[in-house]
Amino acid sequence: MKIDHLSPSQINTYLRCPLQHFWRYHEGIKNPPKGILTQSKCVHSAIETNFKQKIDSFIDLPTSDVLDSFCTEFDERKHETAWFKGEKPAFFKDEGITLLGGYQKRVSPMVQPSHVEYQFKLDFDNFDIPLVGRMDLIHSGMIADNKCTGKAPSVIANEAESSLQLTAYALAYREEFQKAEKGVSIIALFRPNKSKEQLSHAFVKKQTKEKSAHVETFPATRDQKAINRYLKLMGHVKHAIESDIYHPCDPDHWGCSEQYCGYYQICHKEW
Ligand code: SF4
Repeated sequence: MKIDHLSPSQINTYLRCPLQHFWRYHEGIKNPPKGILTQSKCVHSAIETNFKQKIDSFIDLPTSDVLDSFCTEFDERKHETAWFKGEKPAFFKDEGITLLGGYQKRVSPMVQPSHVEYQFKLDFDNFDIPLVGRMDLIHSGMIADNKCTGKAPSVIANEAESSLQLTAYALAYREEFQKAEKGVSIIALFRPNKSKEQLSHAFVKKQTKEKSAHVETFPATRDQKAINRYLKLMGHVKHAIESDIYHPCDPDHWGCSEQYCGYYQICHKEW
C-alpha cells in the first residue's frame, strides 16, 4: 500500500500488530471507541481546555469548570461508544471525574504550558513522506504525554524510558524548535484499582468518588542514539507497509483479544 505520511501512532499500531494496521489503514475499517477510550479522550480534552487558556492567563480554570467540560463531552460521546454488555457509562464518567480531580489537584498547579496539542509535520531530505503527529503538552522545555492507565507505576516508569511515541516527540521537538528538549515524561492518571462489582456497591462508590486519583509524573530522557534508532525503524516500517507485509501478532499478546482488539471478529473470520 502506498502511503503519503506516517505518524507515531501508525508506527505503534504496525509494531503492535501488522494485521491491525491492515484493517485500520489498508481496509479503512474504523471501530467505534470502547468505553475506556471515550473516557480517556474526554479527560484529555478537559485538560486541554484548561491548559490552552493557561498559556496566556497563567491561571488554572476552577476545577468545577474543568470537570464540567469533561462531563459535557462525555455525555455527547457516550452515545457513539461501543459499550460491552454490563458496562455502565456512569461508572466510566465517575472514574473520569476522579482521574481529572487528581490531575487538577496534583499536576495542573505545577505546570505552565507553552504548547498544548502541538501539531508537527516533519519533512526529511532522504525520506519521501513526512512524519506527522501531535504532542499533548510542552512545558518548560519538557514534553509530556498524559495517560489514563490501569497499569502499575513500575510499568509506566519503564514505558517512559522506552516509549517510541516519546522518542518520536523528542525527534519532533528538536526539528521544530532547533534545540534539544529538557526531557520527556508520562503523566499517569492511575485508574482506581477497584472492580466494577465493588464499584456498584454504593458505599465503595461513594468513597472512590470522593478520593481523587493517584497521578504521578514519570520523567525520562532521550539521546541521539534513541532518535537515530527511531528514524531507522520508521524507514523499515514504511518499507514493510509499502510491501504489504501484514501478519497477525502473537495471539498470547494481551491486546489480541475480543476485549481489546476491535478487529477480533473480522480477523478470526479471515485468518
Ligand atoms: S485479533 Fe489479534 S491478530 Fe487480529 S488484528 Fe487484532 S490484535 Fe491483530
